[in-house]
Amino acid sequence: SSVADQAAANGKPSAEDESPIHILWINAGLSCDGDSVSLTAATQPSIEEIALSVLPGLPKVAVHWPLIDFECGPVQGADNFIEWFFKGERGEIDPFVLVIEGSIPNESIKPEGYWCGFGDNPETGQPITTSEWIDRLAPKALAVVAIGTCATYGGIHAMAGNPTGAMGVPDYLGWDWTSKAGIPIVCVPGCPIQPDNFSETLVYLLYQAVGSAPMIPLDDQLRPTWLFGATVHEGCDRAGYYEQGQFATTYDSPKCLVKIGCWGPVVKCNVPKRGWMDGIGGCPNVGGICIACTMPGFPDKFMPFMDEPPGGKISSTASAAYGSVIRRLRDITAKTVDHEPKWRHRGDQLTTGYRK
Ligand code: SF4
Ligand code: SF4
Ligand code: SF4
Repeated sequence: SSVADQAAANGKPSAEDESPIHILWINAGLSCDGDSVSLTAATQPSIEEIALSVLPGLPKVAVHWPLIDFECGPVQGADNFIEWFFKGERGEIDPFVLVIEGSIPNESIKPEGYWCGFGDNPETGQPITTSEWIDRLAPKALAVVAIGTCATYGGIHAMAGNPTGAMGVPDYLGWDWTSKAGIPIVCVPGCPIQPDNFSETLVYLLYQAVGSAPMIPLDDQLRPTWLFGATVHEGCDRAGYYEQGQFATTYDSPKCLVKIGCWGPVVKCNVPKRGWMDGIGGCPNVGGICIACTMPGFPDKFMPFMDEPPGGKISSTASAAYGSVIRRLRDITAKTVDHEPKWRHRGDQLTTGYRK
């Protein structure tokens, strides 16, 4: 097969004869499951391509993901969805990548009950808390990946007030935490994630796991650098309007949205460049203000949504002033270049300026 050929060419066992890399997915943080749902729209690559290991050189994977798994059940035992997590804890599936969706509540701030759990403890019949699963599985994982802004930085549940003490995975495990393979926590923020951003990161880690990719490059907020290195503004379809000082005051306008609440100039996100599904969409491109859903300061530092960002007033005033001058000059040039050169005509005279 082409996968086997490619693997052989790389000097690695083929996907067919390898034991799989397991993906243990916990979506039982404080979560709306929006990231799982978003991932079903991935196309570059798609979740089907990952789950079926059809990409050249990709190791075989076994995905234990509540959203698509046909196994079900919260109790320890064979043919039970939750059994794979106990196997991970016992070291019976190695390697595995641990994916965490949703923010992690602080279970230490109250004497009774629990905030969130996943599966049952066979000894007590009580739920095993999400944070306990992280304690059990993170030390055994090849890599820990936080999906969505809740899991990466706390997100909506961790906004001011925060009765559950919600936090992101790096707050819980420690920002300097590394897996047994030396890989830091990998954060793919977004509320929800842009689907391809996550599928691409997962594929990167799988290639890294079989030695086909170097250590994943992450920035100081643990985001893949190639995905989160540029701002929304730098990739926005409306950036030309901003530069010419043309601003929308209503949502039915194609102009720049900064005056009605867009935070794009200071937000690290590739969505306008990449689109949302299969290259289509991307918040400001299609009329939605950027509310900074990928950022560690989200949502508190960007509220109230739909108000003009404080910094936007100064920069848009400056851009409105020079933009009006630039626009006038461009109008002159635009009129000139919108007409053909005058030597394109019939008749017996050559008027191009050419001389023998
Ligand atoms: Fe839902 Fe957003 Fe949290 Fe993901 S980051 S679980 S989409 S609220
Ligand atoms: Fe920048 Fe937002 Fe305006 Fe786009 S809509 S150009 S991201 S300020
Ligand atoms: Fe979130 Fe802004 Fe990116 Fe849209 S453009 S996904 S609102 S950070």
